[in-house]
Amino acid sequence: CAKQAGRNLFKFFTNSMNEAAQRRIRLENHLRHALANQELSVYYQPFIHLASGVVVGAEALMRWNSPELGMVRPDHFIPVAEESGLINPLGEWITTQACHAAMTWREITGYELWVAVNMSPRQFRDHGLVDTIGNALSDSGLPGHCLELEITERLLMEDVPGASEMIQELTRLELRLSIDDFGTGYSSLSYLKRFPFSVLKIDKSFITDIPHDPEAVSLVRTIIAMAHGLHLRVIAEGVETLQQLEFLYQEGCDYAQGYWFSPPLAGDRFQWYLTEQMFHQTDPLKTLQSHN
Ligand code: C2E
Ligand code: MG
Ligand code: MG
Ligand code: MG
Repeated sequence: CAKQAGRNLFKFFTNSMNEAAQRRIRLENHLRHALANQELSVYYQPFIHLASGVVVGAEALMRWNSPELGMVRPDHFIPVAEESGLINPLGEWITTQACHAAMTWREITGYELWVAVNMSPRQFRDHGLVDTIGNALSDSGLPGHCLELEITERLLMEDVPGASEMIQELTRLELRLSIDDFGTGYSSLSYLKRFPFSVLKIDKSFITDIPHDPEAVSLVRTIIAMAHGLHLRVIAEGVETLQQLEFLYQEGCDYAQGYWFSPPLAGDRFQWYLTEQMFHQTDPLKTLQSHN
């Protein structure tokens, strides 16, 4: 009887493994055509400067609406894109889209808003990366300082060969580097000194437990103080409540991003959002210019 159960369990595992592998292959096959079939789009989620309440920029987030699979979450398709190498053309595409979008925001508002693009470690294995990003900037006319590349601790941990040279080269384009999902990797803090980051993004898992969890409170407080000590600006991700916002404001956190302000929005919706925000600001000019 135990033997029978064991056999069933084994069958269960192989079946579900096959299913997962098949799902992955199916996803990859569809993803291969997603770009050409125009199934991908870019959503934008605003960054708010806390001291003034002004929108200063946005993060570009990829969305995939597949006719066969429906809406696929980035958490599901980005890892597949990374493993298959598809992240390289997709990354080039979203960077170009994002730079053009930021130019449009500038035309609409008259202010230099910045755009942040997520970078996968795999993109740093592509020797053409610096040229690709340089081209996205020159084609759109966006100044380098209006583009921010979000890099996770994973890249620095994986020790991608040549990555640090590439990071140095990228900074010659005058763009900014931010460290994404800070606190979720297990790497040493020494890379904060070694690489020319200008922004640190506190992962939303720390923000969620604020202000009721005293340990989350002291962690976030300490991260902000450390970042400021290193002359980094701080963005808190995943801000959903007024209490979180008040805490972050009191602690001197520079910027926030989260559902409290806005979910990620399709390109045209984000333009609407911007014009609406402009309309409600009394003097956005001063704050916007001094914080870009
Ligand atoms: P991320 O870079 O940390 O992006 C922030 C994620 O948090 C986004 O999820 C965003 O929609 C979500 N978020 C924003 N505000 C809130 C909030 O208040 N509460 C909660 N619970 N979540 C919030 P999304 O768009 O599903 O993207 C997930 C991840 O997929 C991103 O995490 C990023 O690592 C990756 N990703 C998305 N687009 C790209 C891309 O173009 N390239 C690469 N390499 N990765 C991407
Ligand atoms: Mg990000
Ligand atoms: Mg993040
Ligand atoms: Mg995150």
